[in-house]
Amino acid sequence: MTFDKKQWAKDNKEKMHSYREKYKKNNLEKYKAMQEDYDKNRKDKVKARVRQKTNYHNEKNNVCHDCHEGVKTEFHHLSYSPNIFIELCRNCYKSRHLEEDLI
Ligand SMILES: [Zn+2]
Repeated sequence: MTFDKKQWAKDNKEKMHSYREKYKKNNLEKYKAMQEDYDKNRKDKVKARVRQKTNYHNEKNNVCHDCHEGVKTEFHHLSYSPNIFIELCRNCYKSRHLEEDLI
């Protein structure tokens, strides 16, 4: 039988916990970065799923919300939860994101 790490972790929760605490104590910066990475990945996954759903369930009018230009548009999310979005042309989409990044 090969050694099953996951099963071992399940059977030794106490040990795993103390290992984690020890690691955290000795590598606080690394641990924090790992935690942040994990949170970011999870948020990105949720966002990607919402974007997919939005594209699937909504027809585009291809009229930009900001400049009212009738061109190819993208859904721009004002919020992912609740799911609130508007249609923007490429240019307005870019400038909105630029503004958000500056804040
Ligand atoms: Zn526009």
